[in-house]
Amino acid sequence: LFAGSADFIAAAPSIGVLPPMDGVEIAFAGRSNVGKSSLVNALTGRNTLARTSHTPGRTQQLNFFKIGERLTLVDMPGYGYAAVEKAKVAAWTDLIHAYLKGRANLARVFMLIDSRHGLKEIDTDVLDGLDKAAVSYQIVLTKGDALKKHEIDARIAGIQAAIARRPAAFPEILLTSSRDDRGVTELRACVARLLSE
Ligand code: GDP
Repeated sequence: LFAGSADFIAAAPSIGVLPPMDGVEIAFAGRSNVGKSSLVNALTGRNTLARTSHTPGRTQQLNFFKIGERLTLVDMPGYGYAAVEKAKVAAWTDLIHAYLKGRANLARVFMLIDSRHGLKEIDTDVLDGLDKAAVSYQIVLTKGDALKKHEIDARIAGIQAAIARRPAAFPEILLTSSRDDRGVTELRACVARLLSE
């Protein structure tokens, strides 16, 4: 799936300029600095697809990548960076809500959560929005290399309890690290399964 072509197709700063719906779409969301660019690059086996940014909160666009024939990967702008002013947060929320509501071919949002920090209030707000929009999402823990085994187990148990009653949450939580590549194969398998559904 990820061995073939991967091409940048569009950057959408507003809802009016989204590329046409085509094939199966999956999206990656998370707080700024969660490790999203690194994970997208590990997933696709490319170092340049999603730009890792050292100035969090800068990218406020939806970036669309075509993977092979039928898959589109969407890199959503990171949220929750404190220095971003209120107007930008509102713009982010509007763009994301409009995208999520209108995207019939969006199969799943992978919600990235830093395994060291767990669910923050802002993540919970985003999950509320996904539940409301009835967009299927799956929790993906990042930076799993930074925790010990018992810390990982506790983190997963805590999040499992937190999402148990959320209607749009997919129950399986993935633990990943782009440092040591753990969970990347499993994440690829999840994506492949969505394509074959
Ligand atoms: P983004 O802002 O969500 O796109 O995050 P980046 O991919 O740019 O990564 C943010 C920071 O987290 C960088 O300093 C990365 O080196 C670090 N990081 C990313 N992935 C991992 C990981 O798997 N493990 C650890 N320990 N750090 C990571």
